[in-house]
Amino acid sequence: MRRTLPLIAALAALPAALAAAQDIESVLLAAGEAMGNPSSIEYSGTGWVANVGQSHTPADDWPRFEVTAYSRTIDYDAKSSKEIHTRRQGDYPALGGGAPLLGEQERILLTSGGHAWTMRGSDAVPQPAAATVRQLDIWMSPHGFLRAAADADDATAVTLMLEGRELTIVSFTAMGHRLNGTINEDNLVERTLTWVANPVFGDMIYDHRYTGYQDFGGVMFPTVIHSHQGDPRINPGHNSMEITVTAAAADVETAPPAAPDNVRDATAPPVVVRSTQMASGVWRIYGGSHHSVAVEFADFVAVVEAPQNEARSLAVIAEIRRRVPDKPIRYVINTHHHADHAGGLRTYVAQSATVITHEANHAFYDDVFFHPGTRALEPDLLSGRMPWFAPNRIPAYELVGDDGHTLTDGERVMNIHPVLRLGHAGTMLIAHLPAERILINADLYSPPAPGSDPPPVTAGMRSLAQNIEQLDLDVARHVGIHGLVGSHVDFMRLINGE
Ligand SMILES: [Zn+2]
Ligand SMILES: [Zn+2]
Repeated sequence: MRRTLPLIAALAALPAALAAAQDIESVLLAAGEAMGNPSSIEYSGTGWVANVGQSHTPADDWPRFEVTAYSRTIDYDAKSSKEIHTRRQGDYPALGGGAPLLGEQERILLTSGGHAWTMRGSDAVPQPAAATVRQLDIWMSPHGFLRAAADADDATAVTLMLEGRELTIVSFTAMGHRLNGTINEDNLVERTLTWVANPVFGDMIYDHRYTGYQDFGGVMFPTVIHSHQGDPRINPGHNSMEITVTAAAADVETAPPAAPDNVRDATAPPVVVRSTQMASGVWRIYGGSHHSVAVEFADFVAVVEAPQNEARSLAVIAEIRRRVPDKPIRYVINTHHHADHAGGLRTYVAQSATVITHEANHAFYDDVFFHPGTRALEPDLLSGRMPWFAPNRIPAYELVGDDGHTLTDGERVMNIHPVLRLGHAGTMLIAHLPAERILINADLYSPPAPGSDPPPVTAGMRSLAQNIEQLDLDVARHVGIHGLVGSHVDFMRLINGE
């Protein structure tokens, strides 16, 4: 008894609101009474949506598109949601991936019972990779959060003084993810946050802010929804969406549809890797949506592009080993920092390859992308290997500035050039093999299949043509990280409108 007394005295001396555990049931009850407890909600408005993972440089926020119409219906009992939005470039700068967005684009994003899909016309297109986030999103909506907290068996509530306000943080586990919500002085959910697996960011912050609550027919709903996806270390916020809500209604009659059969039966597509030899010691490695090129030097192999994720990198590396069994992959050339083009880089770093990338990527790659921190949601080779105690610096970089960079063994030469004045990315590199007259590019020119309709000439194609001319590159063949292999003659025909 006596030994507990000083502890009780010490606790009593603490300011009551410093950090006080709360009874979770009474916290949820008070929030439910303030907010209402609908079985479904429908809301609409306008705002903007961003292209996550596609910034112009790592120092920039995600590129935004105007949302001229937004509506979403969530059915909490069916665990289903349907979001429709129409987006266009609007007045947002046409910088970054996906920009400029020509015309208006309607997108329909659905989830039900653990499945995710989009609609293309009247066809349901399965999106198994999006299922976890879309289901989590239901439980991160204002009312969904309270429901999920009540259903969880590990929910806790702690009240804190934050910036002069008394706020209660409710935390629990749902679908293997830790969800945190902030409940304010008025018992309203003003923020929900979790982390989702991402090849670039690792455990990536996913965050919704709910402000400007109004009474919509007896149910409280925010009039501003603002979302973040990213990492706060290099670019605070990484704003991904903002919707100003103009109408909301609870317990609506039309529920989102159940998942159609083709969506229920869908599985993640297999990783397919094939290769063809383009010249002595040069292989195009393809089979998916994003390709790579392996180039053999005297003592090593250099790989242009590590797209998508670790699964693709492992399969590409296996194919390179089959082609060149006796040489290590010493260099990986990263065309630009967009998540779909850089997502497989960590697998090469884990095997001590030097990353050749634009100098503008250095701080982001060092502090965030290749950071040795734990990846709890989807551990990869690098997060498990922890090579930061190795005698040689890992990751190693060769940074490319305005003057470009040359990789050579004295015999073979690969020149790496930055692409200047490009809207798609401010970090773009192209790789040129002068002896083989091969030019490798990403997202600028994707050579089409022979005999297919000529693609429209894009700003990226024009920029590529200008850079080729300015650098005076001798090119016979274009290899796209997307698309096929095409002749420079055909490329110039397109550019010149012939
Ligand atoms: Zn890109
Ligand atoms: Zn691309």
